[in-house]
Amino acid sequence: MTNSKICVYYSSDYAGIDFDGGGFYYGYETTKCNLCGEIDCADCTEKNDYEPEWCFVASDRNTDIITPKSELGCKNENAVENLLYGIAVYMESI
Ligand SMILES: [Zn+2]
Repeated sequence: MTNSKICVYYSSDYAGIDFDGGGFYYGYETTKCNLCGEIDCADCTEKNDYEPEWCFVASDRNTDIITPKSELGCKNENAVENLLYGIAVYMESI
């Protein structure tokens, strides 16, 4: 078995792992607007100078399951730590 398709990446504002058939991500690229409830809402951000909530995304070939940071339970802002919380929450849910 080879792990050549596994890719881990992280910075200060995102973290993720991709693998054959899916991946996990946490960070600024997927957000939830808590004013209107939309994912990746641009309108409220522009109108209200509002910072939407960063999200965790669990992906397989067909589906993205999106969980906002407030539902992960991680008290810190660290992207890698939030990613790990997200993977745990996802694994608990399946
Ligand atoms: Zn909005």
